[in-house]
Amino acid sequence: MKFTSASLLLAALAVAACDSKTATTGEAATSTASVKAENIDPAAAETSGTKATAADEANATPAPAPGTIPAAKSGDAAAILARPQVPILCYHQIRDWTARDSKNAKDYITPIATFKAHIKMLADSGYHTVSPDQLYAYMTTGAKLPAKPIMLTFDDTDLDQFTIARPELEKYGYKAMYFVMTVSLGRPHYMTKAMVKQLSDEGNIIGSHTWDHHNVKKYQGQDWVTQIDKPTKTLEDITGKKINYFAYPFGLWNEQAFPELKKRGFVAAFSLAEKRDQNDPLFTIRRIIASGYWTPRTLHTSIVQSF
Ligand SMILES: [Zn+2]
Repeated sequence: MKFTSASLLLAALAVAACDSKTATTGEAATSTASVKAENIDPAAAETSGTKATAADEANATPAPAPGTIPAAKSGDAAAILARPQVPILCYHQIRDWTARDSKNAKDYITPIATFKAHIKMLADSGYHTVSPDQLYAYMTTGAKLPAKPIMLTFDDTDLDQFTIARPELEKYGYKAMYFVMTVSLGRPHYMTKAMVKQLSDEGNIIGSHTWDHHNVKKYQGQDWVTQIDKPTKTLEDITGKKINYFAYPFGLWNEQAFPELKKRGFVAAFSLAEKRDQNDPLFTIRRIIASGYWTPRTLHTSIVQSF
């Protein structure tokens, strides 16, 4: 199948719409396109009232250098679930809305000024971005994180993540995680391989997000090769680094996916706002979509209420 830029854009919007459906069927979301801060995931209750204690602090081991994974420490599910969740934001497109953008799509299209205001709010509020390796060390061993940790993630390879988001994050010394869908690399409106390499070289982490965004719950046999093995190898060839993290397209996962991802060397996987798997929280790490409708204030409320 040949992709035109128009068809890819439509595909991206379809993806956005699907993501939106996912969100609205989850416990978290509203049935309207504009996700409201008041309607945030009850899963947050899972850890509400759980705060890091002085004992945790004392027992904490130092965070590893970025790019390193502590060996043979997978942590047990109960201990991981007991620790407060680190807020993780998920962005898609960073661009101004057009008349052709649907109401639903706008949750996934953050206007440039809105995005800049979001990031400024995080900096002004004292948030520090953490890498997935720091997050992994914290989740599995209780390793110490900087004050007010947050993780920023960008899905689907959109070009504006490089041209708009990257320089904005740079202003504040922020690093991010980019979940790349490899079918789009080099297509109009998407990042090139060289851009992905540059992001990686600059200290951001690249994660796997399938070849063309098919739902993990439907994979059989060869699909694992097409959607996971080959694209992950592509990303490793581009970055020259091992790819350790995966994000589920549409945030959709099932238990059958965990062993498949583990045997391929992934150490953790990211979903969306749905509740974490009680046996495998490392493979269902929660993120919230930072809606294009959200003011900095709404974003802040959502962060506080969702994690
Ligand atoms: Zn995606």
